Amino acid sequence: MKVIAIGRNYAAHAKELNNPLPDAPVIFLKPDTAVLKDNKPFYLPDFSADIHYELEVVLKVCKEGKHIAEKFAGNYFDEVGLGIDFTARDLQSKFKEKGLPWELAKAFDNSAAISKFVPKSQFEDISALPFSLKINDELKQDGNTNMMLFSFEQIISFVSKYITLKKGDLIFTGTPEGVGKVFAGDKLEAWIADEQFLNFEIK
Ligand code: MG
Repeated sequence: MKVIAIGRNYAAHAKELNNPLPDAPVIFLKPDTAVLKDNKPFYLPDFSADIHYELEVVLKVCKEGKHIAEKFAGNYFDEVGLGIDFTARDLQSKFKEKGLPWELAKAFDNSAAISKFVPKSQFEDISALPFSLKINDELKQDGNTNMMLFSFEQIISFVSKYITLKKGDLIFTGTPEGVGKVFAGDKLEAWIADEQFLNFEIK
């Protein structure tokens, strides 16, 4: 499986990092070795002094598809969950300055923490899903998928023009504003509406 992630999909987040708004989805990949499951702790790596959390709604792909039309894109994912797109912001800033790919800042081991997944049919309207992150009981991110620049369907259609989607692939759909640094001892908890999806520690 692979993890496909979308950058700058919420205007307020693009702004907080001084990035322009994209006119097409910005995408990057994480390898399967990036996946961190079952609320296992995230260990701060020694190659970065500035690891950031980015809470994102994650889609699970349910069948293989290529060149998927937007109107059929909803048939290609049946479950949703939450994830933290851990980012080595210090490395990313250096790479961006030099115009180099950010891969090492995004694709390192355990950089894609994921929750359980539930059927999307559980939610009345996934295009207006509220989701939130608390760290040590303090609200840090409070998003809603109705603020995305590119919808789930647009993302799937766009990505599948270039990269075949396969059953089990995960799509991180971008983070709202409020990203920041994590510290050893932090407790991260995240919800979709009032259901808890993530609850784990930084070590
Ligand atoms: Mg992200």
